[in-house]
Amino acid sequence: MDISGRKSHFLGALIGLAVGDALGMPVEGMRASQIRRTFGRVRDFMDAPWRRLKAGQWTDDTKMMLCHARSIVRRGYVDPDDTAREFVEWFRSGDWRGIGNSTYESIKRLLAGVQPSESGARGEFAAGNGVAMRIAPVALADCDDLERLREDCRRVGVITHRNPEAIAGATAVAFAVAKAARGDLDPTLLVEETVDYVGECEVTRRLRMAKAFLEGRMEVEEALARLGTGGYVVETVASAFFCFLRSPLDFEETVTRAVEGGVDADTTGAIAGAISGAFNGLEAIPERWRRAVEGAAEILELAEGIFRLKARGVS
Ligand SMILES: [Mg+2]
Repeated sequence: MDISGRKSHFLGALIGLAVGDALGMPVEGMRASQIRRTFGRVRDFMDAPWRRLKAGQWTDDTKMMLCHARSIVRRGYVDPDDTAREFVEWFRSGDWRGIGNSTYESIKRLLAGVQPSESGARGEFAAGNGVAMRIAPVALADCDDLERLREDCRRVGVITHRNPEAIAGATAVAFAVAKAARGDLDPTLLVEETVDYVGECEVTRRLRMAKAFLEGRMEVEEALARLGTGGYVVETVASAFFCFLRSPLDFEETVTRAVEGGVDADTTGAIAGAISGAFNGLEAIPERWRRAVEGAAEILELAEGIFRLKARGVS
């Protein structure tokens, strides 16, 4: 597989994730109707003084994505032990920015000496979107080997979430980002191919529902209300796919619609942004966002680092 011309798509995936997260940050926890009443459309980054975050700053989604990216660039491949060390380092910094419950409890266990393969939260409450939101760098690192990608999603996912739906949701997102980055994502086939790749589960049942809503040309507000935009991974992944597939060539439309669904708005935005950014490339992300998003230089450098690992393999 020749990915030598795909650099802009690697950069677009990680900047797209950060942009979607930052756009959703100030409206996280609000209902869609409340967002409409207060802001109309969400067109730009906004300050969130109640979170002590400024316009363009992002949340735990991007913090954890950066943990994966740093580890991959340093090690040259996906290494769960090294990734877990990055999570611990982030946790110790105290700059949590809305850390999820499963992640919090899991990192506490890592700190107590539990192995990364055993640290993850179990049970139905561990079916959150905390792996799906951060998985894009793993998708880029394994985009040339989808069997390895599936296995790596599980190996790094269980550090925080030992729940099959949480892993399935992350695997679905990783599949879309990998296909987009390497240049063989066909929007008309994406849901079917993702279902085939991930297998039967709640995540893929709701992805099929998203596809039916798209085919029926359902209004975006109604579709997201029915698919859900909460922290349950089944909801977030279906809504993010819906927003991407509704406007596959329009990054701005995709991410603004994703965050306007409210509730876990930053994560729906981050996932939709990662897929759309990988599909359309860096230049398709509005320049006002690329320039103003927090940490853009480091994010671009890490994305380029992962790209170089792959380009070296094909040159
Ligand atoms: Mg978040």
